[in-house]
Amino acid sequence: MKKILVLEDENAIRSFVVINLRRSGYEPIEASTGEEALKLLEENDDICVALLDVMLPDTDGFEVCRHIRASGSRMGIIMLTALSQEMDKVTGLMTGADDYVTKPFSPAELLARVDALYRRVRGVMDGDEDDIVSGPFVLSPRNRTLDKNGERVRLTQTEYSIIKLFMENPGRALSREEILENVWGPEYKGDLKIVDVNIRRLRMKVEDTATMPEYITTIWGYGYKWGS
Ligand code: CA
Repeated sequence: MKKILVLEDENAIRSFVVINLRRSGYEPIEASTGEEALKLLEENDDICVALLDVMLPDTDGFEVCRHIRASGSRMGIIMLTALSQEMDKVTGLMTGADDYVTKPFSPAELLARVDALYRRVRGVMDGDEDDIVSGPFVLSPRNRTLDKNGERVRLTQTEYSIIKLFMENPGRALSREEILENVWGPEYKGDLKIVDVNIRRLRMKVEDTATMPEYITTIWGYGYKWGS
């Protein structure tokens, strides 16, 4: 999931940002106070990028940024600053923000920054991830490999990305749209059938009996699930 925290106390701006992020395949998590934001960050340790407004009712965005960095997180942080807060850009970058966007901003401007940062952070955070173990499988994000009962399963990069998405969301029904968006990217405008084709191939590689799948199960009319 491409989770992004959106901390902004002005409802109009927050909705505008959220709508545009969602349209681009992100999953925005909304907060309107610093306290709420920190709580949501604790509950969602898979948030990759945070957009932090500077002027907030209970604290300021820099304080939130400081908190995030103090916890050791390497997530991407973009400050949303007002034009009158030129100095804040410097402060923001000093407290550990990666980038800033000055209000008012266009959706295109914001998304370009978010996309770029997301890609960067994703690369770094992936390198840090621990192995994921599920039944006879061990997935190593560091080496981008999958083992089954100690034996290497040879996967394409696409198959690897799909299996990783599954193993990160065990027992959760994933729609074909969601899989397409996560693995092929939000810009991809191809047919959903590409998902089914890859799943079929994956099953031949990971299932004991491909025609009776027990790891990648089908949710009829919806998508797939890791585990039963
Ligand atoms: Ca504000």
